[in-house]
Amino acid sequence: MYTLKKFIRYYGPYKTVFFLDLLCAAIISLVDLAFPQILRTLTATVFTEEPSTILKALLPIGLCLLIMYVIQSFCVYYVGYQGHMMGAKMERDMRQQLFDHYEKLSFSYYDQNNSGQMMSKLVSDLFDIAEFAHHGPENLFISLIKIVGSFVFLFLINWRLAIPLLILVLIMLVFSMKQNRRMQETFMDNRRKIGDVNSSLQDTLAGIRVVQSFANEEVERRKFGKSNQAFLHSKDANYSCMGNFMGWNRFFQGMMYLVTLVFGGLLIARGKMNAGDLAMYALYIGIFVSPIQILVELIEMMQKGFSGFRRFLDVMETEPDIVDAPDAEPLTDVKGEVSYENVSFHYSDDETLVLDNISFTIPAGRSIALVGPSGSGKTTICSLLPRFYDVTGGRITIDGKEVGKLTLESLRSQIGLVQQDIYLFGGTIKENIAYGKPSASMEEIIEAAKKANIHDFIMSLPEGYDTFVGERGTRLSGGQKQRISIARVFLKNPPVLILDEATSALDNESERWIQKSLEELSRNRTTITIAHRLSTIRNADEILVVADNGIAERGSHEELLAKNGIYAHYYQMS
Ligand code: ADP
Ligand code: MG
Repeated sequence: MYTLKKFIRYYGPYKTVFFLDLLCAAIISLVDLAFPQILRTLTATVFTEEPSTILKALLPIGLCLLIMYVIQSFCVYYVGYQGHMMGAKMERDMRQQLFDHYEKLSFSYYDQNNSGQMMSKLVSDLFDIAEFAHHGPENLFISLIKIVGSFVFLFLINWRLAIPLLILVLIMLVFSMKQNRRMQETFMDNRRKIGDVNSSLQDTLAGIRVVQSFANEEVERRKFGKSNQAFLHSKDANYSCMGNFMGWNRFFQGMMYLVTLVFGGLLIARGKMNAGDLAMYALYIGIFVSPIQILVELIEMMQKGFSGFRRFLDVMETEPDIVDAPDAEPLTDVKGEVSYENVSFHYSDDETLVLDNISFTIPAGRSIALVGPSGSGKTTICSLLPRFYDVTGGRITIDGKEVGKLTLESLRSQIGLVQQDIYLFGGTIKENIAYGKPSASMEEIIEAAKKANIHDFIMSLPEGYDTFVGERGTRLSGGQKQRISIARVFLKNPPVLILDEATSALDNESERWIQKSLEELSRNRTTITIAHRLSTIRNADEILVVADNGIAERGSHEELLAKNGIYAHYYQMS
């Protein structure tokens, strides 16, 4: 019921079309209902009148039918075109909403959900919803009018014969409702299984280079085959339900004809009905059972549509963990003092603390370096500053303002992030650099590229800044991509900078180049650097050694060497 209420809201903007659609549906079924009546008028004339009066009667009947069918055809056109368009528009609305919502959901959601399932919600679920949105009410309406209408006529023609038919229909109704629940379950299962197939495909395609380099095609093939087969199993359950349902329905339909003929014959034998009425009966029963087939299809469509809609609601009702506080203020005029005060943190799916009571302060424009074994929590420390996750305890401030009390947009626009994996969007190099500042002029973009030491390389490409990169574009080396991502940050020009193993994936030669750009980038910016190679951080104002959920040592390079602890040990090893 709740789902239905939510669903109906999406018709809101299309009330007029919806109403006209239903009106057309009503006209379509009324015309069908009228046909046997007109036939009856004609047959009545045939039995009683002279040939000349029959000919005279043909003209008005012909005209009447012509008008009826012209109108009916127009209604069919309207339903087929505008009705479908209404469904398509609702689909577009929902898809946009879902996309907007996906963009808002926090890192923690993406940690726990896979993109294959998300894709299938965005594509196939929504299509099913739209199909139902349009065909559902319209077919229901057509069917109801035809069923009720033809039944009324059946009653009027001969009520004695109508009663056993009514009983048959009631049995059929109870039976259908029982089958319904089971079918709904199988449809939900279908949607999940096709989501699994999509995830498996998505996963393999995203990692195809890894798959092939390990020559693991066969392993992936089996994994995919498994989910593909599971989908087939789910379809099996589903279709067996449906076949069952349809078979029984056909049986009931046949029984209606049987009852009509046998019971009708009895009535004729007893003089309670005439042969002409029995013929009419057969025509109306035809109209009566035709929507039953439609209703069966409608039930399938409804099951699909609603299970899709429920999955849609699931996402829409997942609130992002990280949102602006009600009294959030924008962060402006940043000097860049960053301070962590007794910060503790654990990821939502695991209660053990990744960070336990960490404190440090970076004065504006100064730099700090984090070193420590992998998995010690260095990246986690950095993720808390732009609020990719919220702290479990303690607080983080920029210029003394707690990050949780600032608007997300203003906070994140002040922080530049350079990571180990770089993502370039499908588009030109120019667009990719301008991602840091969409309003940037060409001069600014070139300026940023120069600072990132990538301008000369870009100019050496035949299409320069208009070279296509990204998934389907020119392949760039890791170092080239990294320099483009650094140019992005130069353009964004944030006062606070996070460099998370920005050079770890690169060879020595590229690293040296990029190191220079990074030094240039971090000048006069508050910087947190995480680096594998200790040589790159020895100039940091302070070095924190992260280990055992906390900070094990801190100090300048020389101080830490003098201490002869963990850092000194690392340093000797490298
Ligand atoms: P580092 O950057 O120092 O290598 P991380 O901060 O990435 O370490 O990870 C610290 C710990 O937190 C690890 O034990 C890791 O398994 C865990 N962790 C990292 N990211 C997540 C996540 N998104 N969800 C749950 N646990 C995570
Ligand atoms: Mg890390």
